[in-house]
Amino acid sequence: MGAMEAASPVGENTDLALSAREFEDDLAFSSRMAKTKGYEGDPCSECGHFTLVRGGTCLRCVSCGATSGCS
Ligand SMILES: [Zn+2]
Repeated sequence: MGAMEAASPVGENTDLALSAREFEDDLAFSSRMAKTKGYEGDPCSECGHFTLVRGGTCLRCVSCGATSGCS
């Protein structure tokens, strides 16, 4: 009677994988939209908005003012 058990999928793992895929799709979409608006297309490490603009060697977020890459 072991064949019946093998045919049963594990629902929780499938649900987790779907959520991760949806998250990546959302990031890719946000990045593409940001580039069309003149932004770098990378998420801000402080606020998470895709509103980084390049200034010399620095990336500055126009949403919260955080900078990265300058050090
Ligand atoms: Zn920010």
